[in-house]
Amino acid sequence: MFERVDLPEEVYIREVAPRDGLQAEPRVVPVPERIRLVDQLTAAGVSRIEVTSFVSPQWLPQMADAEAVMAGIERKPGVNYAVLVPNPKGAERALRTAPDELTVFVSASETHNYKNVHCSISESLGGFHRICAMAREAGVPVTAVIVTAFGCPYEGRVPVNAVLDLAVRLESMGIADITLGDTVGVANPLQVAEMVRSFQLNAPMVRLSLHFHDNRGTALANLLAGVLAGCTRYETALGGIGGSPFSPGAGGNLATEDAVYCLQEMGIKTGIDLERLLGVTRFLEEIIGHPVPSRVYQAGGRMVPVGIEGTLNE
Ligand code: MG
Repeated sequence: MFERVDLPEEVYIREVAPRDGLQAEPRVVPVPERIRLVDQLTAAGVSRIEVTSFVSPQWLPQMADAEAVMAGIERKPGVNYAVLVPNPKGAERALRTAPDELTVFVSASETHNYKNVHCSISESLGGFHRICAMAREAGVPVTAVIVTAFGCPYEGRVPVNAVLDLAVRLESMGIADITLGDTVGVANPLQVAEMVRSFQLNAPMVRLSLHFHDNRGTALANLLAGVLAGCTRYETALGGIGGSPFSPGAGGNLATEDAVYCLQEMGIKTGIDLERLLGVTRFLEEIIGHPVPSRVYQAGGRMVPVGIEGTLNE
């Protein structure tokens, strides 16, 4: 099928389960377990972790006590511990905990932005100006997620140019690290490849990451399409937990285990120890109190041949 496949040597995974995953769980996971989850991810070799979110605990009780989580984790040198902030007030709280990175988010479609954060895209960007100024003073980089970048539950398909324009506006504020989120899991591999190419051509100064949801079973195929198109940065969630509030229970984030297995079996490095990671998945199941959807976890990890003798099924 391919005459020659150019694969990258390494793909970078940013783990979002402690934030994106746990915030979607009905059970509020206590702070000590949230801390242990992050520490175990660090020990498994994950080098970028979205630790928590500084949203109001009235909105999201799952993310309450974000300060205590940040104070409790053991930070390994070289590992990036990021936090999500919804507004300047959240950024002020977050910066007191010395994160390695602040992450802001905005929708690619106006309707979704209104539903999500109750303001227009321009108003969101206005808040980012203030957040960027605060972060600059503290010497902390700001990254952004453009959600609904591949499709919006209210407006349908989102034009590539709308996503590009928004990314360019973010980049002009000093936010060069941008993740495109397929929030409701509608992207297809061709669309992903075209989006990546479009950024390479029209916004080469943007450091692009992709974040897929598996609502329709396309998340891993989308990651592979992104990799083949030259994008080497992805956000995934341990166990495949998390998901969209618009389609509860209908498929979460792409599972880190599944991404790591697929990439490593293809000879692409991720820096993550899959066996150790699966141990963290077991712990995750304990603290959330239900099985996780990761296929690689369910299959028991890599195939270990049991040998021929005595294993024949008659
Ligand atoms: Mg997500």
